[in-house]
Amino acid sequence: MEARLAQVRQRVAQACAAAGRAAGDVQVLPVSKTFPAQAVREAAALGIRRFGESRTQEIRQKAGELADLQPEWVLIGHLQTNKAKDAARLVAEVQSLDRWPLAEALDARLQREGRAMDVLVQVKTSPEPSKFGLEPEALPAFLKQLDGLDTLRVRGLMTLAVNSPDAEAVRACFRALRQWRDRLRDEGRPQLQRLSMGMSGDFELAIAEGATEVRIGSAIFGQRDYGD
Ligand SMILES: *Cc1c(COP(=O)(O)O)cnc(C)c1O
Repeated sequence: MEARLAQVRQRVAQACAAAGRAAGDVQVLPVSKTFPAQAVREAAALGIRRFGESRTQEIRQKAGELADLQPEWVLIGHLQTNKAKDAARLVAEVQSLDRWPLAEALDARLQREGRAMDVLVQVKTSPEPSKFGLEPEALPAFLKQLDGLDTLRVRGLMTLAVNSPDAEAVRACFRALRQWRDRLRDEGRPQLQRLSMGMSGDFELAIAEGATEVRIGSAIFGQRDYGD
């Protein structure tokens, strides 16, 4: 894992250099979903503290096995509204906030926990029906609604690009997210800084389009086995 992590960091640095960006501009979020707690333990020994996960059930299980490490969990997968309570208890940050009922449920649960969290709004930049995310045109109104919730600090946007061999189609998704972020910032939302976009297969393209963090699973942890 150490070698794969070093290789990912090197590729990130190269992509930054190619884009004329400073290497420190782009964070790597290791995505440990489907990998065992032992893999998280190994990564933690290499200095990693934050891990991307898709499901609250899996976070709860790993958190139990890793209680001595207290990793920070970042939720990047679709969150059912009835799991907001688990997220409020277990998760440091949600990057997959994509609808108002979920925001309301999270806010209510966070109030009970007496805490706030950073969130990213997941935006649908790809036409694939399988992808979650808010339609980009709905962003301004959604952000205005979120202004009313003290427990959710909106820090930026997240997206998944289209799954396609066509690099231009993939890049167009990332570019769209950046353009929305830039437009919203210009319209008076300076707190929208972060762009979480790019995974193992496409992160160089995301960095070229302005990603501030890339979510990397298999390139760090190895081949993922989804089981059945
Ligand atoms: C699984 C996942 C990733 C990481 O995917 P890899 O291809 O393994 O790097 C990134 N983002 C989201 C939303 C994911 O679900």
